[in-house]
Amino acid sequence: MTLSAQPVASHYIDGAYVEDTSGAEIPVIFAATGERIATLHAATPALIERALAAAERAQRDWAKLTGRERGRILLRAAEIMRSRNEELSQLETLDTGKPIQETRVADATSGADAFEYFGGLAGSLTGEHIPLGPDAFTYTIREPLGVCVGIGAWNYPTQIACWKGAPALACGNAMVFKPSEETPLCALKIAEILTEAGAPPGLYNVVQGRGDVGAALVTDPRVAKVSLTGSVPTGRKVYAAAADGMKHVTMELGGKSPLIVFDDADLENAVGGAILGNFYSTGQVCSNGTRVFVQSGIRERFLARLAERVAQATLGDPRDEATTIGPMVSARQRDIVLGYIEAGKSEGARLVTGGTPGDGPGWFVKPTVFADVTDDMTIAREEIFGPVMAVLGFDTEDEVIARANATEFGLSAGVFTTDLARAHRVIAQLNAGSCFINSYNDAPVEAPFGGVKLSGVGRENSKAAINHYSQMKSVFVRLGDVAAPF
Ligand code: NDP
Repeated sequence: MTLSAQPVASHYIDGAYVEDTSGAEIPVIFAATGERIATLHAATPALIERALAAAERAQRDWAKLTGRERGRILLRAAEIMRSRNEELSQLETLDTGKPIQETRVADATSGADAFEYFGGLAGSLTGEHIPLGPDAFTYTIREPLGVCVGIGAWNYPTQIACWKGAPALACGNAMVFKPSEETPLCALKIAEILTEAGAPPGLYNVVQGRGDVGAALVTDPRVAKVSLTGSVPTGRKVYAAAADGMKHVTMELGGKSPLIVFDDADLENAVGGAILGNFYSTGQVCSNGTRVFVQSGIRERFLARLAERVAQATLGDPRDEATTIGPMVSARQRDIVLGYIEAGKSEGARLVTGGTPGDGPGWFVKPTVFADVTDDMTIAREEIFGPVMAVLGFDTEDEVIARANATEFGLSAGVFTTDLARAHRVIAQLNAGSCFINSYNDAPVEAPFGGVKLSGVGRENSKAAINHYSQMKSVFVRLGDVAAPF
């Protein structure tokens, strides 16, 4: 039977699926087999216009609702997502190639968490009263920004669509979301579910396309805010385009994060953390701890146990529940990753395991561990975005902190040690936005997520996201007379 995930239409605008086949074709390929499972079309300028006009209109009325009324719709969307988790997880697996055992617990569920959290917060978003003595006070009004644009990467298409949409809508904004052209299917479902939950037409629109569609959205004067999840080079372009219109931005970009394992760490947990932080989603996670610094006393035991556990990974069809490593999202990404593996070999890193493509038609790469990696090697400096772990040695705490920070990125950092005083001392000195102690890559909606340095601007999730999707109006009120000089 041929595999199909063809949606009703390519775009979701003004509360309905919309097609315009005159837009450039976007083939959707199932990464495990190379089969084409859908054909979509990029948005034409006319469709981009329709989406922005619908969002602008919907936003005006949406902002007039009380926060509680808005929240009720988001909570309903969370419930629908949970009830449709199996279907949404299967679609995420087809869209990205990620194993079904991951997508069942990490994608629609995480999206539902975002709608639940921000739906719950919506009723409590307020300004404040600032007393200024007996004759005056100021009050502040928390206002929505207006029309927000979300632009997604291909690794977490459902989660990204929700992490941007939920806080935006909770604050009274509307959204036009552009998924990555590699994974255009999942965001359409989010739009559909929001309509079913009672969101008015035009509130959450999805338009497909490549960078040019993203650029058209970012530069439109009706757009007040842009939230991008993507690479640093794209982030630079989008940030610059947004700056021209003085728009608000959130930039969730790449990383090359350090994961530090001290001699006294619990070996099994440290190995488990390194596996989660390098091989989950076949390594296509921005916050991955891809520079694994392991202290001298534990290094050989760590590598031996890591090799044993990596040997238990099951590469295969991501629809199979036993599969733990799926394919890369695209042939292009597979080739990029294999190129980095070659660089690792030719620059003298020791290949511990993996290092080759998987068998079969899909775009597989075996989970790969390099040891004896030095700070100057390409695989220790550049974001690979694939299942390639670089293990580096170190001796002292001060040394590892300096080396961990010697990068232009600053998304995440992790420390494994049983000495909790050291754990907090080290984490405090690492330049990273999202950090972990004796764990790695947890991303609960209650906690802020985002990077420093080139890894980004702003924070997603948590109450911090509210400040990035709303603005304060302050109103000075005088109760007495105005003292004018003439
Ligand atoms: P890209 O930067 O290539 O693309 C991101 C999105 O931006 C895509 O939808 C892309 O469209 C769009 N885009 C490209 N050019 C422009 C432009 N000029 N104007 C507006 N939009 C544009 O990233 P990838 O999709 O390759 O994702 C991988 C990257 O994302 C990695 O570097 C990773 O670190 C980062 N990432 C960061 C995360 C975080 O939260 N910090 C999370 C996940 C990923 P299209 O691709 O369709 O052409």
